[in-house]
Amino acid sequence: MVEAAQIWQWLSEVPDPEIPVLSLVDLGVIRAVEVMDGMVRIKVTPTYSGCPATTFINLDIEAKLRSKGIEKLQIEPQIAPPWSTDWIKPEAHEKLREYGIAPPRPGQPYCPRCGAADTELLSQFGSTPCKSHYRCTACLEPFDAFKCL
Ligand SMILES: [Zn+2]
Repeated sequence: MVEAAQIWQWLSEVPDPEIPVLSLVDLGVIRAVEVMDGMVRIKVTPTYSGCPATTFINLDIEAKLRSKGIEKLQIEPQIAPPWSTDWIKPEAHEKLREYGIAPPRPGQPYCPRCGAADTELLSQFGSTPCKSHYRCTACLEPFDAFKCL
């Protein structure tokens, strides 16, 4: 008999398809895990609706839990409330910076490399629609910044 805490642990090992340094739990897309009568039910809130990664998330969850011997599995989308960048775990912000992506914050992002607040927007769209492309005016390095939702 598997417990919800174990499921959370396994899900924290599933990387986000787009930003592999973050797990799905870091990203805050797993809203609930319930175990009832041997059935595991997981509620997942998609991130940015235009994000191609979203479709892979459910497949990754399923693959992980099947590999752990979970047979009865139900993954349900939970649309409301919509996902917010506030749901990204605080400790995940540090992982993002180390990966070279500015964590989401209102207004201009800080440079993930040197920490300067003086940054300029180069493009609304970075490597994916969920990110914008910026350049640091202090160290001149271009970088992707998570869009704040
Ligand atoms: Zn910089």
